[in-house]
Amino acid sequence: MTRPALPPLAVDRNRETHLPVNEVFWDVVQGEGPYTGRACGFIRLGLCNLHCPPCDTAQTWDRSRYDLATTCPDTAVEVVVNQLPRRLRMVVISSGEPLLWRSTPAFTTMLELLNQRDIEAHVETNGTIAPLPQGASFVRHYSVSPKLTAMGGSDPHKRQIKPDVIAAFAHLAAAGRAAFKFVVANQAQIVEVADFAAEHALEPSWIWVMPEASDTVTLLNRQPVIVAGAAAYGYNVSTRLHMIAQRR
Ligand code: SF4
Repeated sequence: MTRPALPPLAVDRNRETHLPVNEVFWDVVQGEGPYTGRACGFIRLGLCNLHCPPCDTAQTWDRSRYDLATTCPDTAVEVVVNQLPRRLRMVVISSGEPLLWRSTPAFTTMLELLNQRDIEAHVETNGTIAPLPQGASFVRHYSVSPKLTAMGGSDPHKRQIKPDVIAAFAHLAAAGRAAFKFVVANQAQIVEVADFAAEHALEPSWIWVMPEASDTVTLLNRQPVIVAGAAAYGYNVSTRLHMIAQRR
């Protein structure tokens, strides 16, 4: 994996050209969901509108523990895209919640620059902010992860499920441009996914589940349980390939 040093903290907070960027790296593969195994790079932006207790990217949003000016310095999107290698064909824009920036000129410019380089843009989102208008963006795929109980979703202030937004992503899923992704630890959480899917009329083929785990032993132990549980509902299953590759 290649992780270049980001430029020093910029003072320009002009969202015409700059976004808060936590990290940019490439020479990796997508570890989860329908694009598992695809060679890609990642652009991780700053800030999130949710505060999930088990979040593993708290450095993008948690001001109580991190100096966000340091962990997510304002960076010109042109600089971000220009450092990506010419061979790259897919970039995952992650965060935090990247769609917080969807209305900024800088976010639009970043998508345009990626498209000019013939790089597919994939966006990972918590599903609380509407996708960009169809036909008006260069986003190839949305990976949508609504937060259920295991991620603090039982707290209505943290959950923030927005039915109209979920419906917009469902529309994209029907067109093959989005998938719903759930990280689950056990059968009970698969049942919760099923309840959510029924509530929002999600097709099973749009849903991907994968084991919750912070180490590969737990991951591999849970994988058979998750496969059996998911298959009973017709859901897709993926592993978390990045964890296996890193042998955490
Ligand atoms: S939505 Fe994702 S990035 Fe935001 S707090 Fe929850 S787990 Fe972390």
